[in-house]
Amino acid sequence: MTPTKGHAIVLGGSISGLLAARVLTDHFDRVTIVEKDKLANDLEPRKSAPQGAHAHALLSRGRTIVEGLFPGISDELVKGGATLAGIQDVRVYILGWRISFEDSDRVLAMTRPFFESTLARRTSALNKVSVLEETEVAEITGTPDRATGITVRDANGTRDLAADFIIDARGRASNLADWMKQMGLEGPPHVTSPLASCYSSCLYEPEPGAPRPRLHQVAKFEDKLGVLIFPVEKNRVLVSLGANAIMPMPKTQEAFLAYLHALPVPDAYDAVKPLRALTPIAHSRFSASVRRDYHMLKRLPEGIVAIGDAIASFNPVFGQGMTVAALEVEWLAKCLAKTDPRANGFAKSYYAGVKPIVDLAWGLPDLEARRNNPKAQNWLIRFLLWYTERMQKTATRSVYVARTLLRVQNMVEPPAKLFGPPVFFRVLFA
Ligand SMILES: Cc1cc2nc3c(=O)[nH]c(=O)nc-3n(C[C@H](O)[C@H](O)[C@H](O)COP(=O)(O)OP(=O)(O)OC[C@H]3O[C@@H](n4cnc5c(N)ncnc54)[C@H](O)[C@@H]3O)c2cc1C
Repeated sequence: MTPTKGHAIVLGGSISGLLAARVLTDHFDRVTIVEKDKLANDLEPRKSAPQGAHAHALLSRGRTIVEGLFPGISDELVKGGATLAGIQDVRVYILGWRISFEDSDRVLAMTRPFFESTLARRTSALNKVSVLEETEVAEITGTPDRATGITVRDANGTRDLAADFIIDARGRASNLADWMKQMGLEGPPHVTSPLASCYSSCLYEPEPGAPRPRLHQVAKFEDKLGVLIFPVEKNRVLVSLGANAIMPMPKTQEAFLAYLHALPVPDAYDAVKPLRALTPIAHSRFSASVRRDYHMLKRLPEGIVAIGDAIASFNPVFGQGMTVAALEVEWLAKCLAKTDPRANGFAKSYYAGVKPIVDLAWGLPDLEARRNNPKAQNWLIRFLLWYTERMQKTATRSVYVARTLLRVQNMVEPPAKLFGPPVFFRVLFA
């Protein structure tokens, strides 16, 4: 463990920033979170995190890491109304077939504002942490070799803050690459994978005295549409329709129910029909997964590293973003335990370990992105597309294949498991 001293600053107080701040408290005297918005403190989506209106699941692997950083948080979230569910507790349909088996992996299904505000409360309660809310990071200060602080802007004007180490957790809005270019350095390669998606969500409540529906996940492969039904805090039910394509989405309650009615099984429609809508329908569009490959750069400034969506953001339909953030924070903790983050070479070794984490989440959405684009296909991609489609069908008949697929989706197992002999032969001879 490196000696505890100095001041670390975290840019952005969302999921990645809050988790990173927790880890930094093990290594610095003071940790300051700078957030241009207010930190999440209630059950409404924040202005700067509009995805908060849509269902968020923390995958099994992410949950384990978050629980390690904040012991007891899963119980706290469940007591507050989140649902902790294994596959046996969920009505999961793939291609219209119900999948069910006993499994030990547990996903946390909740509203994002509830998760984020719980994390924010736990992080800001830590002794060494202070939070500057409604304070924007205007600039990074330093030299091409090292970031040494930031300039912030709030209602009172601008001022400089010195830092021994900075984490950039500003999400997709991060302009670290631009700052590097201003400093005369190369910026990271910017890679996109154009699998668009759109979401429509609405919060409901049951009629007084009626039970809430249980957790449902229905995927309709042919037209890429799926639905998530999450029982959430305050006896409410969050229903999100998601499509792996830009398509017209429902604007009225009647149209929303009609979408559910068109699914291959009646369960989702039956579950939502008796509920009372509490909110207007919220819509979001997502154009492409994006990654900034800092690991490719020969020269990196020291004293600053990016994390979470500031490095890569993924098609949300796969529900990986928060788990990737947690995996990167876990890796950051290992780096900090081994090396003083002020030492030369820290950034390089940190990004070297981030690469396989991003790769882990990048593969399946990127493969899907190529499905509708024959120009992005070679023989290998065509085989993988055929194979993954056949694997989904096999998963409706083989518990072994379904379990492996689920473990990969939960980021507990690497995607390579889907091509190992036990799955491969089942898929081939199904
Ligand atoms: C529709 C949708 C559904 C999703 N569903 C899931 C899901 O089910 N499961 C899952 O794991 N992930 C999901 N995600 C992804 C998930 O929301 C993100 O990956 C996750 O929020 C991690 O983001 P982050 O903390 O890195 O960045 P963000 O959440 O984008 O936060 C960045 C923060 O930085 C702040 N900031 C930006 N610029 C400045 C500045 N100049 N000064 C100060 N502060 C600044 C912002 O205000 C914000 O608070 C979904 C995403 C979308 C769009």
